[in-house]
Amino acid sequence: MGWRPPGKDCGLCGARTCEGFLAAVERGEKRLQECPFYHEGGTADGRGAAVHTGRDVLGNTYDFLLTPLPGEPSARKVVLPFRPDLVERWGIDAGDIVLGRPEGAGCPVQHVLRVIDADPITGLLTTHVVGPAHSRGKECLDVKAYHIVGFEGMARTVLRPPTFGMRQRFLPSACMMALTHTGVVNLVIGRGEEAQVRVEDIRL
Ligand code: SF4
Repeated sequence: MGWRPPGKDCGLCGARTCEGFLAAVERGEKRLQECPFYHEGGTADGRGAAVHTGRDVLGNTYDFLLTPLPGEPSARKVVLPFRPDLVERWGIDAGDIVLGRPEGAGCPVQHVLRVIDADPITGLLTTHVVGPAHSRGKECLDVKAYHIVGFEGMARTVLRPPTFGMRQRFLPSACMMALTHTGVVNLVIGRGEEAQVRVEDIRL
């Protein structure tokens, strides 16, 4: 079996996890094509290669792929709940699992976020996007709707390197929709193929 699913554990194929999906394929109960991220051009060892082809799900190109900071599970995502007072009211803190949909950007997918830092003054949550498996059987805090304020991660250049002050097109590597986002690059550390970046004012 050459192609491997991207490790999103999103459940869209009917399996709880990508590993469970692969096991079902090996038992003959599912076909690889049932994963919406399946791509016949995927490589044998390329975990995630199926969705990082340089074009998004609509065929649009992007300047860079946004990948996690070293040792982290996904690019950091800074969000502002529509009700930012809930952060203080519910005592949201590091390690909590928060649910919500990025309605401010028009994204149709509910996200599962693991909190890295919570600011009770502004209501800003710095988070990692984690798979739906992280919310099953656990206590979650459902803020329902939030704005995406920004992302922090490593930019892997595809077409153009990240440039301070520019609005650029990028693909968060953990995006379940595999949909290009745009944002203003307001921090770039390093040069070359990979640089640490912060991108804000996010739109789809
Ligand atoms: S990415 Fe989602 S749909 Fe694809 S195999 Fe993994 S859990 Fe299933």
